[in-house]
Amino acid sequence: MKNILDFKTLAEFIEYFKDEETCRAYCVEMRFRDGEYCPHCGHHEIYKFADGKRYRCAACKEDFTIKTGSVFGESKLPLKKWFIAIYLLSTTSKGISSLQLAKHVGVTQKTAWFMDHRLRSAMKQDKGQIFGTIEVDETYVGGAVRNMHRSKVDRSKVGTGGKGKSIVFGMRQRGGEVRARVIENNDAAQLHPAIQATVAPGSTIYTDEHRGYNGLVGYIRTAVNHSDKVYVSGDAHTNGIESFWALFKRGYHGVYHWMSRKHLQKYVDECAYRLNRRGQGMNIVFADVVGGATDGQHLGYKALIA
Ligand SMILES: [Zn+2]
Repeated sequence: MKNILDFKTLAEFIEYFKDEETCRAYCVEMRFRDGEYCPHCGHHEIYKFADGKRYRCAACKEDFTIKTGSVFGESKLPLKKWFIAIYLLSTTSKGISSLQLAKHVGVTQKTAWFMDHRLRSAMKQDKGQIFGTIEVDETYVGGAVRNMHRSKVDRSKVGTGGKGKSIVFGMRQRGGEVRARVIENNDAAQLHPAIQATVAPGSTIYTDEHRGYNGLVGYIRTAVNHSDKVYVSGDAHTNGIESFWALFKRGYHGVYHWMSRKHLQKYVDECAYRLNRRGQGMNIVFADVVGGATDGQHLGYKALIA
């Protein structure tokens, strides 16, 4: 593939994307990888201005640039800075805080925070179903009891009502990809549809003994007994999804410290994205994020801070 470049270090990366023209050409290649289109109306016939930077749609006559409607937006920030941010965000295992990003990229922390959130929206989870042997579990984030498993939350809830926590529900194909989403509560009415939307019917599902999984139809379910401290008994374990929680929590505690409920799904997406692309080359991941970024919906600063 032409647009997959081969860089092994940040130094090589920065040397390649040395100026705005090179970055823009790369964006053009990624954005129009399935053909040219107008970001205003989707029409496929567009004209390019002589300056090489602006386009006009043959149908709606609107002008645009390669950044219009993408997560890069119309900001004055050079694409090179965006690219370095993408490199840093997609090569760390735990993520990167806006404070670190600001230092590395050379922008204010406010700008870094904005970039961070926009880029995260380009790191979405795949919509495709997972199948085979699937481990499912929930974790509890924020509030008075931070990031803990339900068995501990239930105990600590006494007296506090467990308020202020968000629930993240995760499903991981054994030895494969993870899908995770924020859910409102951990009852069957939430868990069953989440599983049905994500896991192919007929798959084997390992859960713990939580009642919310009872009565799940269409799957072969095995409950792992956590309360007896029998964590691993043959194949009946949920170690795969638990290692995802461990990764997520390292990012939570070590990098971000706090994730608002409003943006939690995006952090979950970012973490899942990273795990699912572990082992892929940096150049492939970079191309994928730039592809997602140029496709992305415009996400205004006001919408982010509202
Ligand atoms: Zn148009």
